[in-house]
Amino acid sequence: MCFNSLIAQADLKQSICYGHTHDGMIKNASQLPKEGKNYTVFSSLAWYLGRTYVHNEVKKVIVDTFHQLATEFPHHVFMYAETGWANGKQFKPHKTHQNGLSVDFMVPVKNSTGESSLLPVGLNNKWGYDIEFNVNGQYDSYQIDFEIMAEHLKLLYEMSTAQGFSIKRVYFDPSLQPLLLNTTHGSFIEKNIKLNTHQAWVRHDEHYHIDFDIKCENLR
Ligand SMILES: [Zn+2]
Repeated sequence: MCFNSLIAQADLKQSICYGHTHDGMIKNASQLPKEGKNYTVFSSLAWYLGRTYVHNEVKKVIVDTFHQLATEFPHHVFMYAETGWANGKQFKPHKTHQNGLSVDFMVPVKNSTGESSLLPVGLNNKWGYDIEFNVNGQYDSYQIDFEIMAEHLKLLYEMSTAQGFSIKRVYFDPSLQPLLLNTTHGSFIEKNIKLNTHQAWVRHDEHYHIDFDIKCENLR
């Protein structure tokens, strides 16, 4: 049996999540693809270390959403970041990401010529997590593309509800939220997606954190 069909077989097993994002675990989680046509993981090393596992329903939503974005917005590129271990549980330095339902996405950006670009991530800036955007969503020559970020969130929400679940909460820097809500899909987001109202334990300016809302078993 080839490696790919082994992966496909593993994916057929339904994931079972337990507990909560801050105190939980998961069985039969799936690893997100390292990259696709319009997206990539933020760090190959993190991927090989197994830091990008999710509930397989979440994986389907994420991959289907990127696929849809590639069709509708073929010139835009995206980057996802940390998700969780194959078995979930404590995932340092994150406080959540414990049951396969938490996913970090790096903000989509435009470069100085206005083209969709990937954030420059590497060891020097903790693979992007140390990047600081100003209140206008600018860092160096990069500008957060709030329009495409809003498209991404709307599509993730729609793909999730089509699968029978939802998005529980999105964490994004409150000082940048007005710029996100001032987009074509801003009112849709305001109506359907719960955003954090206070600053989280780390500033979520270079990434947005999503907790998906899938019913989990009790942990103990
Ligand atoms: Zn996170």
